[in-house]
Amino acid sequence: MKPQLSRRAARLTSSLIRDILQVTQRPGVISFAGGLPAEELMPDLDFTGLDDCRQYGPSEGEPALRSLIAQNLSTLGIACDAEHVLVTSGSQQGIDLVGKLFIDEGSPVLLEAPTYLATIQALAVYGAEFQGLSLTEDGIDPDALRRAIVDRRPAFVYLIPTFQNPSGCCYSDEVRRAVAEVLDEAGVPLIEDDPYRDLAYEPADRTPICAYLQRAAWVYLGSFSKITAPGLRIGYLAASHSLFPGLVRLKQSSDLHSNRPGQLWLTQFLRSDKFDAHAARMVGVYRDRRDAMQAALLRHFAGIAQWRAPAGGLFFWLRLNADCDTLAALHEALTRDVAFMPGEPFFPAGNLRYPAVRLNFSHAAPEQMLEGIAVLGELLGNLAGGTPSRRS
Ligand code: PMP
Repeated sequence: MKPQLSRRAARLTSSLIRDILQVTQRPGVISFAGGLPAEELMPDLDFTGLDDCRQYGPSEGEPALRSLIAQNLSTLGIACDAEHVLVTSGSQQGIDLVGKLFIDEGSPVLLEAPTYLATIQALAVYGAEFQGLSLTEDGIDPDALRRAIVDRRPAFVYLIPTFQNPSGCCYSDEVRRAVAEVLDEAGVPLIEDDPYRDLAYEPADRTPICAYLQRAAWVYLGSFSKITAPGLRIGYLAASHSLFPGLVRLKQSSDLHSNRPGQLWLTQFLRSDKFDAHAARMVGVYRDRRDAMQAALLRHFAGIAQWRAPAGGLFFWLRLNADCDTLAALHEALTRDVAFMPGEPFFPAGNLRYPAVRLNFSHAAPEQMLEGIAVLGELLGNLAGGTPSRRS
């Protein structure tokens, strides 16, 4: 007899990106698919002398790490003490905890379209119903946000304002302030997801929207995955006082606490003079790789797609000039040992979408980049040739 599972379980979908990542493990595949940091740039991990952390620890996280995080958030303008910082097992866990705290079946959520696909998946499991807000070069349109709030009365608004995944968009300061004003007026909570802020290749407005909020409740999600090593699984959230206790209880029932050796190692690393040098090196190398990808795209994608070189983060987002089945293109590309992410899964179900692909530039070896982009340009050029573009 089949076991009787929850209604929630029926909403589980396989993560396309995880499926693709499995294929990209094959030797010889040039992958622009995942948001994988470059292994050769990750700091060496050394857990010697960290025996004090073998016992169970506090659910909120290691006190020294929480206070470093709170200090950093204060410099960003987020009024937050260490007591309102919760260390999580990656910021992905923060997204899940937020889903558990806010979402019932049918709860409306506003988010960008396109947005981070694992957020769509995580919140869909709890029964969220999405409405997407389209992105311009400067972020979402604050007036469209106001109208959508009146229309849907969302449980919260989820945004990635800095070097957004997948679009690379970085909100202007004007839009950040305007969005904060709309949320304050409406009293709708903001969930701000900010894992890419340290990967800035040009000067860009990066003040968190949470820093501009006066009244609305908020959760700010941060991560050490991109600037150190994702295998550590250390992220954090900070939250306004009304939301924090619920999130801590959910964390307790989820995994008791995040891994202690990683937290202690990270605290030492952040405090040492090695961190700044490491971060500067990583940013410098990624900037070069972004420029290399931009050069390759100019050579092989002119007339096929439109894009802007991102000022930070890990991705190029290409709007294809003509309609094209990007999933079919992916299967074809994999037969030629090149992987990328089709744009479709980044759009919440039922929302307007347009043909696009996401290309990561941090992971592929630079000498393979041109080769891989040439293959994709040929393939997408053939598939997308001719048909007029569908725009939303
Ligand atoms: N949010 C966004 C927007 C992301 O792109 C990612 C990772 N790709 C995460 C959250 C999760 O990151 P982590 O759990 O590694 O901190």
